[in-house]
Amino acid sequence: MAAEQFPTLGAPEIAFLGRSNVGKSSLLNTLTGEKSAKVSSTPGRTRTINFFALLDQSQREKMIFADLPGYGYAKISKSISEGWPAFIEPYLAMRSTLKLCVCLVDSNVPMQQSDRQLIDWLRAERRDFIVVATKVDRLSGNERTRSLLALKKGLELDAILPISAKTGVGVKDLWARIDAACGELN
Ligand code: GDP
Repeated sequence: MAAEQFPTLGAPEIAFLGRSNVGKSSLLNTLTGEKSAKVSSTPGRTRTINFFALLDQSQREKMIFADLPGYGYAKISKSISEGWPAFIEPYLAMRSTLKLCVCLVDSNVPMQQSDRQLIDWLRAERRDFIVVATKVDRLSGNERTRSLLALKKGLELDAILPISAKTGVGVKDLWARIDAACGELN
């Protein structure tokens, strides 16, 4: 997928990013349910951006979710572009309708350098982002508190949103952030 193959600019876009297996597909399913229609992707390939349009009641595109390829299998590199397809950085840097990057980190796994690199890069690009800690249903109350604190410290964040695609914890809060980023009044 080359930059010129991105869909034409339209509704506000939200990008979803995370290491492979972080729970991105599960969260996207929970967020969109039956409400989305896939508008663009390259069949049979996982290393592409999948764009999903969310429609309003009049079947008009209300917002677009961009599901970016999972990263993290490549060994730690100086640039996030190593081990990531070349179109990712141009997409994140230049897509003018991109309103918010949702960065997923696994609450059951200590801070990973690849996550840190992505977040530092988004900071340098001055992209609006939110970090969500996935699969929190797997942790007890104390474990959850400890893990979230460690991730916040390691990634130098003011806030991290605990979420579970399984139980729905945090989903409402994430929707509120997404709607606000898209200028939706809810
Ligand atoms: P992706 O590679 O980032 O798209 O990750 P998936 O959504 O395919 O999830 C990876 C694994 O984590 C699967 O076995 C899921 O069932 C599991 N998983 C995803 N989200 C959750 C969650 O909220 N809670 C629990 N307990 N497991 C989850």
